[in-house]
Amino acid sequence: MTTAAALDPPAWLARLAQLAVREGVHLATLRERDTRDLELAFASAALFLPAAQLLSERDANDCLRRFLAGAGRWIATDHVELRRWLADTGFILRSDRGTDYRRGTFPDWLAAAAAQVQPEDLEQAVEQARRAHDDARAARKQAWLAQAVQVEELPAAAPDGDAVFMRLALDQAHNAWALGEVPVGAVVVEDGQVLATGFNQPIGNADPTAHAEIQALRAAAGLLGNYRLAHCDLYVTLEPCAMCAGAIQHARIRRLVYGAADPKTGACGSVVDLFAEPRLNHHTRVRAGVLAAECGGLLSKFFAHRRELQRGGSLPEDAQDDAQ
Ligand SMILES: [Zn+2]
Repeated sequence: MTTAAALDPPAWLARLAQLAVREGVHLATLRERDTRDLELAFASAALFLPAAQLLSERDANDCLRRFLAGAGRWIATDHVELRRWLADTGFILRSDRGTDYRRGTFPDWLAAAAAQVQPEDLEQAVEQARRAHDDARAARKQAWLAQAVQVEELPAAAPDGDAVFMRLALDQAHNAWALGEVPVGAVVVEDGQVLATGFNQPIGNADPTAHAEIQALRAAAGLLGNYRLAHCDLYVTLEPCAMCAGAIQHARIRRLVYGAADPKTGACGSVVDLFAEPRLNHHTRVRAGVLAAECGGLLSKFFAHRRELQRGGSLPEDAQDDAQ
């Protein structure tokens, strides 16, 4: 990189600011994408070691920790790994005894600017960039929420309409039972019409992801030719688990309506509430407890029936699988 055009301090700060709005960037990723970015990051880190001063390993670590807490917080590494990379590439130098460190030499394209850039400049540039980035994101989210409120005010499915669709989801749960699966069913509704259905079938499909919600979402997305189901509502007889809650959010489902709570794996408030986390959930509204007694009663009956079969010896012990 010695042939690269030399960088002046403003260009250094500007490029660092661009990099710093990212999150969790690995050093290996930087190296693969652009070695100039890697060198810029290394030089930025090395500037946190005072020039021409011999530091103990502990002091060198403290300097690198300070870098990683601020100007380098977008890099997914710790001070030990970073110190090793810096030493391997000559950005910091280890004494012959291996116990002391000092700032090394920088590639030509950075060397002149390095004499003028201070660690505080780097911290400030990164702080400003991240704040601007966060503000822009917050503004986008506000716009989103304003839009979502308007959607809310449209005549949405009446509460009684929810019971109608939940009965259809219950039919799906019965389908699951008929095949020996834990009875959970789901339907995807668009514009007041059932678009797709699904029921729990991980055993039959030998697929741990084959929960009712996933089955219904897959079918709906396949029909629409679009994984985004932003105008769709999902009805499911049991509170979704964390996997399904994630899928529902990825699908941008507008509204989730579920029946019975699931105290074991429910991710809508029973164990965790992934829909209450605004950093994850942008617009899915949730209604709980529609036909809860019927939905939960079906599950209770299913498990009671299975225990009976087990006691009677007609179901092997290892057929027990109480994960829905
Ligand atoms: Zn699930």
